[in-house]
Amino acid sequence: MRIDVLTLFPAMFDGVFSSSILGKAREKGIVELNTVNFRDYANNKHNTVDDYPYGGGGGMVLKAEPIFAAVEALTEPLASKPRIVLMCPQGETFAQRKAEELSGEEHLIFICGHYEGYDERIREHLVTDELSIGDYVLTGGELPAMVVIDSVVRLLPGVLGNETSAVTDSFSTGLLEYPHYTRPEQFRDWKVPDILLSGHHANIEKWRKQQALRRTLEKRPDLLENYPLTKEEKRWLEELRREMEQPEL
Ligand code: SAM
Repeated sequence: MRIDVLTLFPAMFDGVFSSSILGKAREKGIVELNTVNFRDYANNKHNTVDDYPYGGGGGMVLKAEPIFAAVEALTEPLASKPRIVLMCPQGETFAQRKAEELSGEEHLIFICGHYEGYDERIREHLVTDELSIGDYVLTGGELPAMVVIDSVVRLLPGVLGNETSAVTDSFSTGLLEYPHYTRPEQFRDWKVPDILLSGHHANIEKWRKQQALRRTLEKRPDLLENYPLTKEEKRWLEELRREMEQPEL
């Protein structure tokens, strides 16, 4: 996969793109990560990329020309059209399903905004996707782009080793993930659940499924609305609901 990020602050990506799993994915050649400073595409003497809003009001607006020019310089030599993702608090809220969808692409371009916003023609005539990382406003699109890129790249084949697995992650299954424990068996007054020490793989698997359901019911019951429950899971869920409704003695 190739990912290009259009930004006014390329240095912000240095640490993130060269550390940990993203850095390794890059070293292994699984992903190519590039930053492009779209100020280099400003077609004026002072390299300005923003201007006052028509109609008045506060804040500066990112101009269309440098962003179109930067994207076109990347895409014109190519036969296929990449997905062009605008980071924007008004966009679709980013979630695991979108990360899975984007991880199937060969080439992604991210546009990181700043200031008050973008010239609307960028949204209307250039981008294929608009993504928000949540209902709050940040100063720029760099941190949101890093969040999206990290979650997409970790899904690419060969990126995660055996030490981490995307398959059982929260949201990948449609549920929150079950709890984990590691050594020591006893820490202060707290012991690891016996079932995890039993060596009985089928029972451990069943316990994990039940725990994942319990967690989801307790913390994110909204996820259960779209989760295709098996007959057995429906029964467990009813039991859990009854248990949770019991008044504490
Ligand atoms: N005035 C804009 C509005 O009300 O929608 C907010 C602009 S914000 C200060 C500047 C830039 O930060 C945005 O253009 C976008 O690139 C980025 N940004 C801020 N919050 C974001 C979020 N929750 N998700 C994605 N990008 C965000």
